Amino acid sequence: MQATTLFLDRDGVLNERIMDGYVTRLEEFRLIDGVLEAMAILSRRFDHIFMVTNQQGIGKGLMSEGDLETIHRWFTEQVESAGGRIDRIYHCPALKSAHSFMRKPSIGMALQARRDFPEVRLREAVMVGDTKSDMLFGRRAGMTTVLVGDEPEVATEAPHLVDFRYGTLLDFAQSLK
Ligand SMILES: [Mg+2]
Repeated sequence: MQATTLFLDRDGVLNERIMDGYVTRLEEFRLIDGVLEAMAILSRRFDHIFMVTNQQGIGKGLMSEGDLETIHRWFTEQVESAGGRIDRIYHCPALKSAHSFMRKPSIGMALQARRDFPEVRLREAVMVGDTKSDMLFGRRAGMTTVLVGDEPEVATEAPHLVDFRYGTLLDFAQSLK
């Protein structure tokens, strides 16, 4: 894999998903085992690393932009303490019903990253996610897609959207060594 840019979904890839709910506070944000080690490996391998996350809990009024900022500041500090980095975090607070172009599976966040970092080539990027929406986002943006996590059935339901599949982000990172 020659990719130079990495896009990461958040819930279900970096931290444990809360089924039918939202991570609204730092106390609810639980890292998946091996994520910090994975981020350190990936930081050596990729020139750019971005998080792209739908957070309609904000649109629903369940949390504020400040609550999300607190969680993401903590996460960034943890990653950096472990020797990794994350170059920019993009989130979409819009409700699903608003059909925002910034909300995955639409590719607004990928185009925003390319505007912010003009050297980024989406065709040389990888999208790692745990849902069909993430795979669709990656595919539509011309990226290589990597499925991780608890919903491996996405790979059988929509095999054309999934290029590679690993159990966890750490498994993916270690495969690149
Ligand atoms: Mg997810």
